[in-house]
Amino acid sequence: MSNLLKQIPSIHRLLEDSTIKEATGERTTSEVTHIIRKFINQLREEIIQNQVAPGYEEIVSRLIETLQADALHKFQTVINATGVLLHTNLGRAPMPQKAIEKITALSLGYFNLELNLETGNRGSRYTNVANLFNLLNAVEETDTVIVNNNAGAVLLTLKALTHGHEVIVSRGQLVEIGGGFRIPEVIESSGCLIREVGTTNRTRLSDYENAITSETKAILLVHPSNYSIVGFTETVSREDLARLAKERGLLLIEDIGSGAFAPFAEPRVSTALNSSHIVTYSGDKLLGGPQAGIISGRQELIDIIKKEPLLRALRIDKLSLLALEAVLEIYLNQEYDELPLWSLANIDPEGIKKRAKTWLDQLGPGLNGDIRPTLSTMGGGSLPGETIPSWALVIKSDIVACDELADWLRKNDPPIIGKINQNGIWLDPRSVLDWQDEALLNVLRNGVSQCS
Ligand SMILES: *Cc1c(COP(=O)(O)O)cnc(C)c1O
Repeated sequence: MSNLLKQIPSIHRLLEDSTIKEATGERTTSEVTHIIRKFINQLREEIIQNQVAPGYEEIVSRLIETLQADALHKFQTVINATGVLLHTNLGRAPMPQKAIEKITALSLGYFNLELNLETGNRGSRYTNVANLFNLLNAVEETDTVIVNNNAGAVLLTLKALTHGHEVIVSRGQLVEIGGGFRIPEVIESSGCLIREVGTTNRTRLSDYENAITSETKAILLVHPSNYSIVGFTETVSREDLARLAKERGLLLIEDIGSGAFAPFAEPRVSTALNSSHIVTYSGDKLLGGPQAGIISGRQELIDIIKKEPLLRALRIDKLSLLALEAVLEIYLNQEYDELPLWSLANIDPEGIKKRAKTWLDQLGPGLNGDIRPTLSTMGGGSLPGETIPSWALVIKSDIVACDELADWLRKNDPPIIGKINQNGIWLDPRSVLDWQDEALLNVLRNGVSQCS
């Protein structure tokens, strides 16, 4: 046995092996050493169990496989051919050039994140970006505060304004947004009590009215951003709820999540602000910018929120804030073409069809396909039911099964993510940035073989 175990090469020898060195990619020596150590431990157990030891060549080729699989865990460019423009698993909105430039220009050194250059005193990281939001919203006597993400915005708002009191919300709006984020759980962790009213499909004004007690502090409206309730339905309009809230001295808090300032019109933050006391929304889903949670609303309420200690825990980091400033300048200048999200959403379907055809023409060995009409979506829980006409290259293979084809695409360099549907992989060019076409074509041209 000990003779067999002696055949395991040392970590040092493996680290110095030139074929292994080639497979380490951009990983640090510590990472590679860690992987090799784990690999050797497994190998040792395997040898003890099977009483045979693989030769050096086999060990090397197995280690390279392990290293290649591990490399997939590093952050890397991914080609999003799903046609879902705000894909949460793929980082939601691609950043505008101007946002990246601002981050580069300012974050390579120091900048006045929290220093008031005029007075020399400590300043607020929120002031300028909040002012830009206020300009964009253009609703009098409102202000804005910005946190890490929209879930944080909802949590902070409820904690600051309704802690220890009841908040009324329709059963049709107690949703799970994704990644396990459930509205009721966020409400509860803010320390207020949920009063659920109505049913999943129907909630009337009287349901809200009857639920109000002396303990009630607010009505919460949650935008159904990732689903729609169709059929026998009834919901209460924001305007009716605003009237009820005013009559009974309650707050109306609205979680919009997504939607858009422009060019997609509804639900607009300023429209919501005309009725609701507080509106929360997402920096990426609503603006096509960085991850952020924005709270806009009545000045005196924002002042209370700013004093809530949780704000410090949820505060937005400096890089996102820089990106957000650049994105808001784009909106104020109405330079929407600068926003990749909107550019992608606005690509003419005919152009997409042409691109899909170009892709089709270059399919390599083992692949075949055709062009079919499809629908791109905004995704990320924005604009439910809103789809954009598009075209897809649907690829298939006679030699590998559909899910193997998807695996092959996903584990490629760069990884390509499509949609599996009707035994084919649908690749929608709309969500593929045009500078990625060449890399995608390189993969498709190579084609697929049985053993890959
Ligand atoms: C997406 C969404 C959230 C969560 O926003 P994050 O920015 O992902 O934290 C909350 N509420 C609604 C209605 C949403 O659509």
